[in-house]
Amino acid sequence: MLVLQILVSFRLISVPYVHNPEGDFLHYKNVVKALRLRYSRKGAEVLISGGKIKISRSGKIYLHGRFSFLKLNGGYLEANSWAYLLSRVSKVYNYYWDYKRKGFIQSHYPPSVKLTNAHKYRTKAVFVFSHNRDLRPTYSFKKGKLKLSFPRGFLVVNPVSLKNFLSSVKIIHTLSGLTLIFTLKKGVKYSVKRGDRDITLVLNMPYRPTPRKKFRLGELIVVDPGHGGKDPGAIGYRGIREKDITLAIAREVRRIAEKRLGVRVVLTRDRDVFIPLWERSKIANRLGATMFISIHCNFSRNRYAHGLETYFLSNARTRWERAVAALENASVKYEINYRRQYGMVRKILGDMAQNRYLKESQVLAEYIQESVVKKTGTLNRGIKQAGFYVLLFTHTPSVLVETGFISNPREARRLKSRWYIRRIAEGIVNGIALYLNKYAEKSYFSGRG
Ligand SMILES: [Zn+2]
Repeated sequence: MLVLQILVSFRLISVPYVHNPEGDFLHYKNVVKALRLRYSRKGAEVLISGGKIKISRSGKIYLHGRFSFLKLNGGYLEANSWAYLLSRVSKVYNYYWDYKRKGFIQSHYPPSVKLTNAHKYRTKAVFVFSHNRDLRPTYSFKKGKLKLSFPRGFLVVNPVSLKNFLSSVKIIHTLSGLTLIFTLKKGVKYSVKRGDRDITLVLNMPYRPTPRKKFRLGELIVVDPGHGGKDPGAIGYRGIREKDITLAIAREVRRIAEKRLGVRVVLTRDRDVFIPLWERSKIANRLGATMFISIHCNFSRNRYAHGLETYFLSNARTRWERAVAALENASVKYEINYRRQYGMVRKILGDMAQNRYLKESQVLAEYIQESVVKKTGTLNRGIKQAGFYVLLFTHTPSVLVETGFISNPREARRLKSRWYIRRIAEGIVNGIALYLNKYAEKSYFSGRG
């Protein structure tokens, strides 16, 4: 009965198309005509539906005023991209390109499949498709092509958001449902996990072991064990203290990095002593450090929270990022004049876009995050950004690693163990090496024959 209803509610709108191996391509004038959309020109710009879709002189497509990452080619755009744009513009309908009958399926019903998550890291991409419970998606793999089929499935998605690790994505709708065909790039591995109402696709790039010693020996790195002395940091499961864990990890980073990379590592503290936050960045600046890495442990009132986060300095975007920064910055309460200093942080963060180390810090954060996840197998909570006082005044790429939640019993036990501390430290050192290699020539060998 439901199927019948859906069929009845469909309408097919044919549009002239050009077919090539990458799909069906539609000219914007034909789309406007077939769907009877409002259309006007403003100078070299084309406005569709009163400007909700805007095409710039160079063919870039803006949706509701924002760049959609889609671009016309000689006036043409792939049919599924049109379906996405049309669905986002219409208040009433969703559109799907019927690959067999060569027209838009116009439907009142919301899409039965949604791309609810698309995360991309340097060596890993994760896509989560949620679907109605009665759909039974299937998948198969053949000759580098991964095929996900959702019988009776319909998806509205910007195809661009799926492209990474993939040489192509095909979205094929017919009246009987949806098929996604991913052509994986060479060496990319996949895994698929099916849930009750979702299906997760994970793509992994081959892991390349750390290349060595392209950079100058003796490069100086400052590692900052968070908290210390009268500031214990967070107190976790069974009284475990953040300041003890951070020191143990930092020492291990120093040992491994000096041995394997031939760099020099200076710790901001090598014992249980209180060092003001501003003093920590000053140490890095005074020594002309190549990078600054602050080590911390996370804390949450939700004792199930666990996993790894690496931060670089920027404006916090989420409530969680702000909460973590507030917790770490609370350390200044142990310092004199903390009110004045705290006010200053917020003022300076106002024009963070000017920070010349923003890009490098982000890259460093990515490398460390990925390498530690790889080494420990812990949950990847992602790269994050927030306003950390301890990173604010360093004149070098700087990150803050939240190595795990000491509020989580299982993670707290691990963080106390030597083998786990060692894994974390090895991950951090691998991240450092990746970073040094990337920036080696640019920053460290400049001017040398
Ligand atoms: Zn901390």
